[in-house]
Amino acid sequence: MSETNSMKLILEAKSQNESFARSVVAAFFVQINPTLEQVEDVKTAVSEAVTNCIVHAYEGAQQGKIEISCELNANTLQVEISDFGKGIDNVEQAMKPFFTTVSTGERSGMGFTVMQAFCDSVEVSSKQGLTTVKLTKKVA
Ligand code: ATP
Ligand code: MG
Repeated sequence: MSETNSMKLILEAKSQNESFARSVVAAFFVQINPTLEQVEDVKTAVSEAVTNCIVHAYEGAQQGKIEISCELNANTLQVEISDFGKGIDNVEQAMKPFFTTVSTGERSGMGFTVMQAFCDSVEVSSKQGLTTVKLTKKVA
C-alpha cells in the first residue's frame, strides 16, 4: 500500500473506552501488515496514553474528550492522542522513568517509558487545555 490513509476518533475519557480505543487503532494499523508483536506494542502504547488522559488530564472525572488521529504511510503508523485537560507542568520530568504525580502508590510512573520502549518515537507537547502525545511505529 503506497498511498496514505488516515482516520480520527473522538471519544469520552471513560475507563471503559480504553480497550475500545486501543482495538480501533490496532484494527487500522493491520492495513500495513505489522507482525502480531508490533500490533501488541501499539496497543500497549495507546493504552498508556489513553489511560493518562483519563487518570491525569481529567483527573478521573470520567468525562472530557480524547481525540485520536491516525495516519498510515507505506511502513509507518503515526498516532496522535490529544486531550483538553489540565496539561503537564514539566514534560521532560514527566517522561522520566518512575516519575509520577500520584502519591497513593497506584501509579508506577512508567507510562511514558513503556510508550518509548514499544514505539519508534514518542513526542509530547503540553499546555493547559491541550496535551498531545505523538507515537510513531514502523513495520519491517
Ligand atoms: P503509570 O503510567 O505507570 O500508571 P503515571 O501515569 O503516573 O504512572 P506516566 O504515564 O509516565 O506515569 O506519566 C507521568 C506523569 O505525567 C503523570 O504522573 C502525570 O503527572 C503526567 N501526565 C501524563 N499524561 C498526562 C496528561 N495527558 N495530562 C496531564 N498530565 C499527564
Ligand atoms: Mg500513565
